Amino acid sequence: MIYLDNAATTKPFEEVLEAYIAVNNNYFGNSSSINLYGKKAAKLLEASRKQIGDILNIPYDKIYFTSGATESNNIAILGAAEHKKDFGRHIITSRLEHPSVLETFRSLENKGFILDYVDVLPNGQIDLKHLKSLLTKDTVLLSIMQVNNVFGAIQPIEQIADILVDYPKVHFHVDGVQGVLKNSIDLSKVDSYSISAHKFHGSKGIGMLYVKSRRSTNNISYGGGQEDNLRSGTVNLPAIVAMAKALRLCFEKSDITKEKHHKFKKYILEKLSNLDYLEINSPLSNSYVDSIINISLPKIKGEAIVNALGEKDIMVSTTSACSSKKFSVNEALNSRGLSEENIKGSIRISFSYFTTEAEVKKFVEIFEEKYEQFREVIESGI
Ligand code: PMP
Repeated sequence: MIYLDNAATTKPFEEVLEAYIAVNNNYFGNSSSINLYGKKAAKLLEASRKQIGDILNIPYDKIYFTSGATESNNIAILGAAEHKKDFGRHIITSRLEHPSVLETFRSLENKGFILDYVDVLPNGQIDLKHLKSLLTKDTVLLSIMQVNNVFGAIQPIEQIADILVDYPKVHFHVDGVQGVLKNSIDLSKVDSYSISAHKFHGSKGIGMLYVKSRRSTNNISYGGGQEDNLRSGTVNLPAIVAMAKALRLCFEKSDITKEKHHKFKKYILEKLSNLDYLEINSPLSNSYVDSIINISLPKIKGEAIVNALGEKDIMVSTTSACSSKKFSVNEALNSRGLSEENIKGSIRISFSYFTTEAEVKKFVEIFEEKYEQFREVIESGI
């Protein structure tokens, strides 16, 4: 099996799983308890927070553990909107965002906020001029992802932050799920930032939210008051320790990984650009990460390509795992102005630390083989 769907999720590192089991065995106390086991657990919790803070270059006491990026995005967006609602009702996001951001913004629209979508340029980046034209004195919230999960375009986060200097009321949230350790940004320039461990060889169901100012973000759920009352519920210490370990391991390997992914992307795009009908939605460019490649075949459904490759034990995906079961065209690709035919025929190939050159070569070989079968359909115009 060749697994090339790492933007959907990655295989946990062996050391990460070992840490998860060891913490379950040796630190099972509740970090909120004042007994000895509780204190031991609390100490380990704080050590993990510090480790993550050091890697991401953010103050560790502004890190809040959650069940993953969906929850982190919900807390940041709903919590900031609730806090700011008396200061303004205008909110902005883009159609590039993951559903955990988009649908959360739409829920705010249903509650009376005025929602605007910033335009996306054909290259997959948001239009900064349009953003400037949308901002008003009433704007209180903006959310833009660091790297798009469908085609890998890097968003101009620091330039957005510079624009927002003139709009201090705006809470600027960044979904960093696909960008963390792949593209570096100065997190002191954003108000909140989400990550999810299963995208970097940690376990599923654990994530983090960085919030610059806890006082200006309301809690959206209620309970025992853990994580400074921003995210109540007994903290998942084994998964948190495992996430800190996964982040450290990926951080240490990030230069090698980036170099490897660049080589892989270059190879795939060079080889596949020889195929007459293939469209490349993720060019080799500094404004795209190398770990995600979106390509398309006209008149062929993405699902058909995914299934054809699956028959040869190669796993890729259509657009993104979270929206691939929906029938409508992918919103992120659509926002770039790509044709419906391109969008419907698109697939995503994504790498991880574990991806090898031999796997990439095999993928190209199989894709070229399958392309010959699809070519007949494309040329027959069906
Ligand atoms: N944002 C982006 C950009 C993602 O790719 C994902 C995962 N598909 C999420 C948020 C949601 O993360 P989680 O699975 O941790 O809820």
